[in-house]
Amino acid sequence: MIIGLQASKSGKAEGSGCWMIIHIDMDAFYASVEIRDNPALRDKPVIIGGSPQGRGVVSTANYVARKFGVHSAMPAAQAVRLCPHAVFLRPRMEHYVAISQQIREIFFRFTSLVEPLSLDEAFLDVSGCESLFGPAPEIARKIKAALKNEVGLVASAGVAPNKFLAKVASDLEKPDGLVVVPAETIQSFLDPLPIRRVWGIGPQTEKRFNALGVSTVAGIRGLAREQLHREFGANSEHFYRLARGWDSRAVVPEHEAKSVSHENTFPVNVEDPEMLRAWLQELMGQVTVRMRRAQVKGKTVRIKVRFSDFRTITRSETLNELSFETRLIETTAQKLLAKILRESQQPVRLLGAGMANLRVGVPVQQTLFDAEEKQKQSRIDEACDELKQKFGAAAVRTAAALESGVKIHRNPTTEDHKSN
Ligand SMILES: [Mg+2]
Repeated sequence: MIIGLQASKSGKAEGSGCWMIIHIDMDAFYASVEIRDNPALRDKPVIIGGSPQGRGVVSTANYVARKFGVHSAMPAAQAVRLCPHAVFLRPRMEHYVAISQQIREIFFRFTSLVEPLSLDEAFLDVSGCESLFGPAPEIARKIKAALKNEVGLVASAGVAPNKFLAKVASDLEKPDGLVVVPAETIQSFLDPLPIRRVWGIGPQTEKRFNALGVSTVAGIRGLAREQLHREFGANSEHFYRLARGWDSRAVVPEHEAKSVSHENTFPVNVEDPEMLRAWLQELMGQVTVRMRRAQVKGKTVRIKVRFSDFRTITRSETLNELSFETRLIETTAQKLLAKILRESQQPVRLLGAGMANLRVGVPVQQTLFDAEEKQKQSRIDEACDELKQKFGAAAVRTAAALESGVKIHRNPTTEDHKSN
């Protein structure tokens, strides 16, 4: 229904922009939480991530540490070399999950149309909320103030007629930014921006645009549709539209989502299958925790593997029944991964895990024996969720993850490696 509503509005959004979307992104989230909880860290470089001795990766660096060139997704060992006096902390994932919940409650005061992208980032559709709470920029201001006063954390916000523009805007004046893009200034806002700001343009595509003499969004807009199509094939229409600030995707609340997924781009390509298995376990663990929280079950297990040459393989398997059980879902995902790795022995650049075919709270038919086994497993899942909540993610780790020294990390791809 929302999609239909959006489709009818997208024409206007391209012109007059009656739609109002806010993108909220907490600034250096994990690090800011740790500093909030321990003010003695305030002026120090603070790095949250895995072990610098092992193959750990930086999850978040505060702004002091970033001045030394430290950024998310960098190997922790490299971060130590750049900033030896930094305070290194392990992520307290379930603590961040709890705070993320608190943050989400604040969003829900203003609109029910909240689409979380990660623990610290969400889109809010506030179209039509003006009469209650004031114009969209005012709502963004109120949300930022509530986050600061009630949660003690600073966020940046982008306010625009669609998701793409709102997300670009929230990133422009971090930290503590508030950037508003009124419909009538869309083109002057976008034109001077570097093309990397456009969704889907990574280092490889950037090079191909550069070869055509294009380095800003205005440059993309200067290319004819046919030329874009010749150069970029299937992606060309996407670039054509985004360069004009057109984006008709609706804000989809989690319980209406068609899939839940997490993915991770490795700072260094990974060849070790053991390490990949451990990562898959982590990613699926995050997916199923989110599903249980939202009381959503899913039927299709999906994984995505991108190799060093950017070849991307996705595989899925449909379960016999709806589930949000970590063990069942992860076992299926591991089978899919093993199959892909048997077929291709290349280093892996990105690993993704997710569930599709979601339903909210549907009762499941099962035999008595299954029911007992299921109950046992769901009690284990619940106990794990609870332990993680109390003692942090490190309290509940399975053998594979422990052995390979993998820690839980945020998803650097959604963060664009720098913008958290
Ligand atoms: Mg952030």
